[in-house]
Amino acid sequence: MSRPLLDGPAPSPLTDRFGRVHTDLRVSLTDRCNLRCTYCMPAEGLDWLPRPELLTDDEVVRLVSVATRRLGITEVRLTGGEPLLRRGLPGLVARLHALPQAPELSLTTNGIGLARSAAALRDAGLSRVNVSLDTLRPERFTAITRRDRLADVLAGLRAARTAGLTPVKVNTVPLRGVNDDEIAELAAFAVEHGYRARFIESMPLDAQGAWDRERMVTAEEILDRLGERFDLVPVGRRDNAPAEEWRIAGTDTVVGVIASVTRPFCGGCDRVRLTADGQLRNCLFATGESDLRALLRDGAEDTEIEAAWRHCIAGKSPGHAIDSPEFRRPERPMSAIGG
Ligand code: SAM
Ligand code: SF4
Repeated sequence: MSRPLLDGPAPSPLTDRFGRVHTDLRVSLTDRCNLRCTYCMPAEGLDWLPRPELLTDDEVVRLVSVATRRLGITEVRLTGGEPLLRRGLPGLVARLHALPQAPELSLTTNGIGLARSAAALRDAGLSRVNVSLDTLRPERFTAITRRDRLADVLAGLRAARTAGLTPVKVNTVPLRGVNDDEIAELAAFAVEHGYRARFIESMPLDAQGAWDRERMVTAEEILDRLGERFDLVPVGRRDNAPAEEWRIAGTDTVVGVIASVTRPFCGGCDRVRLTADGQLRNCLFATGESDLRALLRDGAEDTEIEAAWRHCIAGKSPGHAIDSPEFRRPERPMSAIGG
């Protein structure tokens, strides 16, 4: 599908008081999920948001349109919960892609159902996907996610590559004594199949509040594990990108490490987040939100939405301060914010 031509004046940047310019919007499309990853939510799931509280497709499109036309947002990542559970997702993607000043569109998913929808999403205008996969061993997958769905995720990954949703990135959260012995294997899997591998330090954002620093596998440990099997050639870090990246010598495969806890990248953060119920958050760890849904449903003009958005970003903290004694976990867990 071809993109419409740009129109209107260039938007003025969405800048905070530390000079950080925000161009990357994460939109959570649902808080529901069909897995129950132990580091994310409890076995029984959570109290899902009632449907009337969720932003409608029209509301999502309106907010993204304000963000791209007036605030300089250039990239939108769709996430959740599990975004593939959102009914009519290809239609929503097509509408976002058809916006004037359409953003680059990507998706973070657990991969279940991607085998069926990858081609339609690509045709609708999605550029690429990140698929979460913490293990290649079926029993272990069931233990981590509490569901026996490894085959579906692997099929989803293959379909994403075939559909051209590339580079396909495989996101892994290593946990000590759970899957940290598979770090090199997962990187080898990425080499074999032409994916990129990304390892993410676990963060205190699980719904149960059970995060434990001792179980977190640090970036340094991840690199040690990779270094035992591969020669890693640094490829540096793209401006503001959270992942530090290396190429596996002798291959085209890039592995990334996202060290949110031990090597925070808050100083270059360019992200802003919209929850499925229309609350704007200036940080994953923010304790406050701005209610854009209320504004929308009260009939606000674009200028009012823009002003609320700028106000929210103006209040952004310099960093997440996980190591500070004053650190408070946000009330919403990762699955409800949109990771
Ligand atoms: N359901 C989709 C998925 O799993 O990709 C999208 C939402 S999920 C919240 C987004 C990403 O957050 C996943 O890669 C997941 O592994 C990661 N994640 C969830 N809980 C986390 C935690 N406590 N610490 C670090 N990453 C976490
Ligand atoms: Fe679901 Fe993603 Fe959380 Fe796993 S990490 S329970 S797939 S939202």
